[in-house]
Amino acid sequence: MADKIEKTEKKSRVAMPEQDPKVRARNFLEVPTGYTVKMAQEEAERCLQCKKPGCMTGCPVGVNIPAFIDLIAQGDMTAAIRSLWQQNALPAVCGRVCPQEIQCEGNCIVGKKGEPVAIGNLERFCADYEREHGTGELPPKQPPTGKKVAVVGSGPSGLTVAGDLITKGHDVTILEAFHKPGGVLVYGIPEFRLPKAIVANEVSFLERLGVKVVCNAVVGRTVSLDELFAEGYDAIYVGVGAGLPKFLNIPGENYVGILSANEYLTRANLMKAYKYPDVDTPIPKGKNVVVLGAGNVAMDSARTAMRLGAESVKIVYRRSREEMPARGAEIHHAQEEGIELFLLTNPTRYIGNDQGRLTGMECLRMELGEPDSSGRRRPVAVKGSEFMLDCDLCIVAVGSGANPLLTSETADMKLNKWGYIITDQATGKTTKKGVWAGGDIVTGAATVILAMGAGRQAANSIHDYLTFGW
Ligand SMILES: Cc1cc2nc3c(=O)[nH]c(=O)nc-3n(C[C@H](O)[C@H](O)[C@H](O)COP(=O)(O)OP(=O)(O)OC[C@H]3O[C@@H](n4cnc5c(N)ncnc54)[C@H](O)[C@@H]3O)c2cc1C
Ligand code: SF4
Repeated sequence: MADKIEKTEKKSRVAMPEQDPKVRARNFLEVPTGYTVKMAQEEAERCLQCKKPGCMTGCPVGVNIPAFIDLIAQGDMTAAIRSLWQQNALPAVCGRVCPQEIQCEGNCIVGKKGEPVAIGNLERFCADYEREHGTGELPPKQPPTGKKVAVVGSGPSGLTVAGDLITKGHDVTILEAFHKPGGVLVYGIPEFRLPKAIVANEVSFLERLGVKVVCNAVVGRTVSLDELFAEGYDAIYVGVGAGLPKFLNIPGENYVGILSANEYLTRANLMKAYKYPDVDTPIPKGKNVVVLGAGNVAMDSARTAMRLGAESVKIVYRRSREEMPARGAEIHHAQEEGIELFLLTNPTRYIGNDQGRLTGMECLRMELGEPDSSGRRRPVAVKGSEFMLDCDLCIVAVGSGANPLLTSETADMKLNKWGYIITDQATGKTTKKGVWAGGDIVTGAATVILAMGAGRQAANSIHDYLTFGW
């Protein structure tokens, strides 16, 4: 085995082809273009089929990673996708956006000395292969139970609950506030990272299984949870995400040209502003753009601004490169596309002209002090280091909070001090009888796979409730 590990470590991982950075920085087509069958099989053969696979300990939904990789190596792609589907209803999404470097791939034994097996790329390959060449055959379903479940919100957690419960024989309806289902997968993550046709395909897979999707339904406004029970639903899952934008609350925030990443990305992605003139959604197109923040949302905003024609795009972040929360691959792609990182920099006020338009911002240089409650070193301002940064568009991507639309209308569902729903950690049960919750509205902004894991846990608990009672 030691011999085999050493040989594999020396074999480099099969790189997924990508669009050239100069070309892709001005288009919205997907950046990595996917493995061929030959590439996928070559990469699959790097997997050692470990008896105690480290990769699986890093997967929040427990995908049997060596099993599906072995099936790819053998060329049985249909069996590979069926194996994946057992634990993951959205493999085409997870293969593209999960932080594999800290999850499965971060725990792969080959990665100890060499490059880890490209588990995410293989997962994506499997799902894409099924979409393009598969039989389209649906997985088996249990006979109808006569029980009705409402799922509020169609992000990854809601979609997972719906997929799990429909196959267990329950009647499932998703209620979504927007005009399209998918949550952040359609309104937040841009086309060049996650093509919307892929999300639509995952939703249509659930619809073919029998899930009903009702859009433009703002639960808490158009209908309350109690009214849903009165309409005959036996259980409700709340997966409404954490999409309330946060701002810095510094002077000048009302100048024209400052907007939240949430609004900017929703205009670009969900409302297709990048397709102008075919689509007439207005979106501000800055010449000199500054994005505040350093997570995935900031990277997506910066790369979108570049694609919409900006001359310069800067990411301004008050800590250092090491603390940036975005995925390493996204930071790398952003820099390749010409986005500059302004690190250890903190804006103190916005500057505007007499027409009320943003023209720049004053910033302070920072240095890192002692660790704060998050464990990261606290940024401390360097006295007298003020300087000006020119910009005509500022996109604020400094985090988001719980949206109170539904929760403020549901008095008997307990919230924590930040407005997130309190649930039982093992089941996802809320304090309101018959109601479960999961995903970002419970944890705060997190990841797709954690939202899916919470959905799976709640679906199991809902199924037990519908079978045996509360
Ligand atoms: C721009 C961006 C990029 C990201 N990139 C990554 C990434 O690369 N990798 C990763 O793992 N994670 C990423 N994330 C985080 C990830 O997308 C979220 O953690 C995940 O989508 C949370 O899923 P959810 O199901 O809890 O909620 P959401 O995806 O937020 O979905 C909630 C849904 O509920 C709907 N809703 C809200 N209120 C109501 C209501 N009252 N009635 C009916 N419907 C309602 C919303 O319209 C929305 O469709 C990113 C997030 C953003 C914003
Ligand atoms: S992916 Fe890595 S850890 Fe997982 S079974 Fe293969 S070699 Fe082992």
